[in-house]
Amino acid sequence: MGSTTTPATPGPQRNTPRKPKKSLYPAAIEREYVRFVQASATRVIDAVERFVVPALATGRSDDLAHPPEDDRWYTALELAFKEALAAALVSPESLRAVIALFGSRVNAFNARQFHELLRAAYGVDIFRAEPVLEQLMRVWEAENLRLIQSVPTQYLDQLQGRVVAAVQRGETLRSLTAYVRSTYDLPTNRAELIARDQIGKLNGRLTGYRQRNIGISEYNWRGVLDTRERDEHVAREGQTFAWDKPPPDGHPGEPIRCRCWAEPKLPDLDDLDGLIVH
Ligand SMILES: [Zn+2]
Repeated sequence: MGSTTTPATPGPQRNTPRKPKKSLYPAAIEREYVRFVQASATRVIDAVERFVVPALATGRSDDLAHPPEDDRWYTALELAFKEALAAALVSPESLRAVIALFGSRVNAFNARQFHELLRAAYGVDIFRAEPVLEQLMRVWEAENLRLIQSVPTQYLDQLQGRVVAAVQRGETLRSLTAYVRSTYDLPTNRAELIARDQIGKLNGRLTGYRQRNIGISEYNWRGVLDTRERDEHVAREGQTFAWDKPPPDGHPGEPIRCRCWAEPKLPDLDDLDGLIVH
């Protein structure tokens, strides 16, 4: 296997590694994933406008400042929320295929970063079979399917409870409609949070798996060191952790929206497991 096509090959093989270069974060894939997950928020908002907002008028008007006297409004609202949910959900099959595509893009990005780091540090690349990878990806995909589908279901469930309570308080139609529309940023923001968090978690898990798989047992905590990074993570900067002994909130990437990364403590080349490729 004498490939000589890598342009950044830093000279001959070294047993003692150079300091590892910084691993990049899959930021462009993350931005696209945010747009994909946010489409589920857009669908549920459209469905609320189409089914729920018109149903708010049942038994309500702007000069009626007391709770309605019969329960027609409740039946109408319940039906409207059911219709909205049916309109907002898409088939799991279509979501699953796109989720898997994003997962494999993060995996390819992570593998490239990992091998570039090894090559820069040792002057050679190291390969080893990754038997657990398939299972790790399937778990991530299933979890993402569940989370994306929970964007419309969780939002509609909360909204229904709040609208029912507001009607019972005697809110006017105008204030009910304004209230419903004021909640539209909830599913949008939650979709963004899910997307960013899940890309970071997958990238972090892949990094951990790849490092351990070739026999790297420790890493130094590295953060982005900007104003958004948590104080506890800034305080960890440069500290060494063992892969089999995570900090209380998990390895880099595991805490919600954590963008920190694990800089491997590289042993001598002799001490790694895998096939050396010049
Ligand atoms: Zn962090």
